[in-house]
Amino acid sequence: MNIPFLELKRHHQDIQNELNAVTQKVVEEGWYVGGPRVKQFEEEFAAYLGARHCISCGNGTDALELVLEAMEIGPGDEVIIPSFTWVSNAEVVIRVGAKPVFADLPAHGYNISAEMIEPLININTKVIMAVHLYGVPCDMPAIMHLAKKHDIKVIEDCAQAHGAHIEGQKVGTFGNASAFSFYPTKNLGALGDGGAVVTNDNTLSDKIRLLADHGQQVRDKHLTVGRNSRLDTLQAAVLSLKLKHLDQWNAERAQLANQYLEGLKDCDLILPTSNESRVFHLFTIMSSRRDALKEHLSEKGIATAIHYPKAIHQIEAYHSNEHLPSAEKAASQILSIPLFPGLRKEEVSRLVEEVRRFL
Ligand SMILES: *Cc1c(COP(=O)(O)O)cnc(C)c1O
Repeated sequence: MNIPFLELKRHHQDIQNELNAVTQKVVEEGWYVGGPRVKQFEEEFAAYLGARHCISCGNGTDALELVLEAMEIGPGDEVIIPSFTWVSNAEVVIRVGAKPVFADLPAHGYNISAEMIEPLININTKVIMAVHLYGVPCDMPAIMHLAKKHDIKVIEDCAQAHGAHIEGQKVGTFGNASAFSFYPTKNLGALGDGGAVVTNDNTLSDKIRLLADHGQQVRDKHLTVGRNSRLDTLQAAVLSLKLKHLDQWNAERAQLANQYLEGLKDCDLILPTSNESRVFHLFTIMSSRRDALKEHLSEKGIATAIHYPKAIHQIEAYHSNEHLPSAEKAASQILSIPLFPGLRKEEVSRLVEEVRRFL
């Protein structure tokens, strides 16, 4: 029995009929970019999060970049980002002409913390990018407190954390603005690329809408130099449908995660934390024998992945000579094991058995 790392086909079986119906409807309606379905999804997603504005766009990376542009971040400015994250965070900062400053991880967990951020703040620091990695919320009250003290803005990267919350308040509603990705593998994923900015700030919202639509306020009235970053109508329709199932799918992910946690609890591994505040985007374990464990599982037909094999400051394009020990350690020991709605209990049991056999 081979176990895939992720099988979206299987995950979509639950809603195959609904997906077919809505796809056919969109084709028949004949409106393929923009229109009422896009507006409807934006309203539904903002309501789900408890935010004032949702501005859909082409993907999660665009969402981050649009926020930086709207905040007028550019040359001479510094943006503090985690070193242990997906490459988008560094990419967008450099694309707007600013400088990414890498924060190391604290002693526990995979998110940056106020303590690790504070020493990096200087007169040029304009933004902190808080990434809720793997679905675990950053300590947003502490980060917001720090940001206010130094008059810095905060962007939340919620690409892995749709539905996560802190005492009931959804992530994506703490910072000045937040970015979501609807890449197919995310907890809320389209059948293609998609993204959104979420904010309670009216001015930022207006600016982002303008930037994402060629700087047009109304057709042929270009107030600023913009770009084209849009969510397709079909993707918006799919996302409206899938949003209704998000909480249930997050619960299913948590159940599978708890089965892993129970099965692996006394193993020589660092296991993720489980609580009702987080969502499980990935189930990541840390092992000093990561590469051999990955190889063992692969030989048994079990697919795993590494998020991420290098800290950003170790990647060729972003290389710096800093030494960020916790981020580097995480990159050398982290392993993601299969976790997706539709993964079977028997598959989780089999995986637990194989991990235990290896250890
Ligand atoms: C997926 C992801 C992104 C980028 O989203 P895209 O839609 O692929 O551009 C950004 N940040 C994090 C943490 C991600 O996981």
